[in-house]
Amino acid sequence: MSPRDRLVAVAVPAPFADALTYVVPDSMPTPPAGARVAVEVARRRTVGVVVAHVDEAPRGVDLKPVLAQIDQQPLVPPELLRFLRELSSYYLAPLGEVLRAALPPMGREDAQRVIGVVPERERRAAGRVSQRVRLTGAPMPPTRSASAVVLHAHLVAHGEARLAEVARALPGARAAAAKLVALGVAELVSREDEARPSFDDRVARDAPPPLTPPQARAVDALTRALDAREGSTHLVFGVTGSGKTEVYLRAIAHALEQQRGALVLVPEIALTPQLVARYRARFGDDVSVLHSGLSDRDRQAMWRRLRRGDVRAAIGARSALFAPVPELGVVIVDEEHEGSFKQEEGVRYHARDMAILRAHRAGAVCVLGSATPSVESFELTRTGRALLHELPGRAVSSAMLPTVQIVDVRATRPMPDGHPRISSVLHKALAATIARGEQAIVFLNRRGFAPSVVCEACGEIASCGACSVALTFHRRRGALVCHYCDHLEPMRARCHKCGGPSLAQQGIGTERLEEALTAALPEARIARLDRDTGGGARSEKILARLRRGEVDVLVGTQMVAKGHDVPTVTLVGVVDADGGLSMPDFRAGERTFQLLVQVAGRAGRGSAPGTVILQTRTPEHPAIALAASQDVARFVASERALRAELRYPPFSRLAMVRLDAIEEADARDAASSLARELATSGPVRAGAVSVLGPAAAPLARLRGRYRFQLLLKAAARPALRDALLSLGPARRALTRKVRLVVDVDPVSML
Ligand code: ADP
Ligand code: ZN
Repeated sequence: MSPRDRLVAVAVPAPFADALTYVVPDSMPTPPAGARVAVEVARRRTVGVVVAHVDEAPRGVDLKPVLAQIDQQPLVPPELLRFLRELSSYYLAPLGEVLRAALPPMGREDAQRVIGVVPERERRAAGRVSQRVRLTGAPMPPTRSASAVVLHAHLVAHGEARLAEVARALPGARAAAAKLVALGVAELVSREDEARPSFDDRVARDAPPPLTPPQARAVDALTRALDAREGSTHLVFGVTGSGKTEVYLRAIAHALEQQRGALVLVPEIALTPQLVARYRARFGDDVSVLHSGLSDRDRQAMWRRLRRGDVRAAIGARSALFAPVPELGVVIVDEEHEGSFKQEEGVRYHARDMAILRAHRAGAVCVLGSATPSVESFELTRTGRALLHELPGRAVSSAMLPTVQIVDVRATRPMPDGHPRISSVLHKALAATIARGEQAIVFLNRRGFAPSVVCEACGEIASCGACSVALTFHRRRGALVCHYCDHLEPMRARCHKCGGPSLAQQGIGTERLEEALTAALPEARIARLDRDTGGGARSEKILARLRRGEVDVLVGTQMVAKGHDVPTVTLVGVVDADGGLSMPDFRAGERTFQLLVQVAGRAGRGSAPGTVILQTRTPEHPAIALAASQDVARFVASERALRAELRYPPFSRLAMVRLDAIEEADARDAASSLARELATSGPVRAGAVSVLGPAAAPLARLRGRYRFQLLLKAAARPALRDALLSLGPARRALTRKVRLVVDVDPVSML
């Protein structure tokens, strides 16, 4: 063994360093890169991942030994490890933090090897390991113990059994088991419990339909790209219902035929059993589903199955980006324009951008899909970095795109006896739809009853004590709620400022909309879907009622906007199309446009034609007007021109430096000193990077902390990176009171 094998760089979950060097003791084989080891950092035992073998020890440092090796085989395959290192460098995030975000949480078995022996009793209590009793195969001698006979019969019928389980059903089972063991008929084994099987239900396999000509062209291109075994990026731009998913399925099938793996990323909100079923129908149950509801154990089991190559396809939300899919062949990012692909805590990565990178490095094909692609992804196709495949019509030809009607609420009467926010046009259309026995969706992107509560005497707005935002009145709960920190308090009887007794409930949220529609359409069965009515299984229940025709009008937030395919919905109403336009964010227009097109896409998915009614105060705004004509290409062209002029992405690179502290002055001073230091940095002095701010963040206070930010803008990434890396003394001088976050390619500007 050469001496270089005896030093390893280990990334540990600590913010201060990328990797630390350790010595492998003589008694231990050299752990491979990607294996976890136990090491000591600042006198504490912790788990790190070997990221490299090192040639030379850093000078003047007393090297500590590796304490234990946790994995014999690398837990992180080489392709993934290289990718994580690159991601860490791209986002200026410590590698240890990246590994912590990427790897499944460590199980107790492994933890034991690090922290020491955990008593058997405790292990069993934790449910990771259970004692089982099973037959040895030796014949059963006659015995007078009735319970031993019963247990023996049970084991003959069922094979192995968990002792704890039989003990619950059969009194004296433990004694009976001991008896069987003494007779040599049975033995006790301690074994790690199998993780639950992945799926509880069955899904019938489907046969691939013949492709439409545009689908066939896209599939052809993707198949050729896979055969080339080179990294390439593709954008599948197809209206809702154009059959993008079928294109993904074919690309995945081809990758699997090549004995390669596939990874599918979808927005968390779209990761429903219905969606997963489409993949299972094609590929069977050998699909790993990675979602936020998984227990640590299931997550580990999924990881192991992928790692061993037992399963070659994984589907999941953002963090599935890190799935150890073997021999990656294809990476799909569905709804690539979705902002939720950006992780907004810890390591702030963008799963779509990183999917492109991972695929590229792995020689895999990356497929981005959307009905409303982002300006960034379109730009990739303009500059030849990605290939564009268009699916211009719906796959099922009878399903027509809906007609859209704009209602300028400034010039339209409200409905006769209902709420002023519901126009007579929308009211009539709803009534007519219900009369025809069809269904409608009414969209409003604000939950709660009234978005603000205002004192009629002094004009004071009831606001959150910890955040600089108005509290929303929720009537069902009789409470004021902060939608940013979830603070909840009873509805106030008086103004907190002047003591005035009359508080006006202003504006409309989904709760109030539901009530207004119930009053306006007394015959209709109305249901609501938003975060307050529940996510996951409960929202599935509400949607199932809609599909069975038990609901006439579904009211809701963007939870109703995305991905649901309900053929009998023929009318979609948008109460306040301008809602998101006033956000202080250069993507506000794009987001509004995308959301409106998505919502509109819920109408007319079956054979009956669909209608969309957009209520707006700014019908001339491109995001509204072009959403109405569903002209994605023109919207992107106009948005592109705007971004080019203002030098926003994709025509520049941004990084946001955020500082927050409990005391306003602490955050402000820290922001100023960082700004001063940035001003003296090379790239800023050379004009390659401009700095906007420091300024109070639009959301100036959140969860009790004042927030300040600096926005860095550059034509190219290296200069931006240099400027961020130049933050030395001022960054080190930050006290513990101040938190600093560097957000590369920020999505949230708040
Ligand atoms: P998208 O993902 O673009 O929104 P989907 O893949 O959900 O579109 O397709 C919409 C509907 O069209 C689905 O019901 C799907 O089964 C059907 N479909 C897709 N491709 C075909 C095809 N080639 N032939 C027949 N039906 C198809
Ligand atoms: Zn709050």
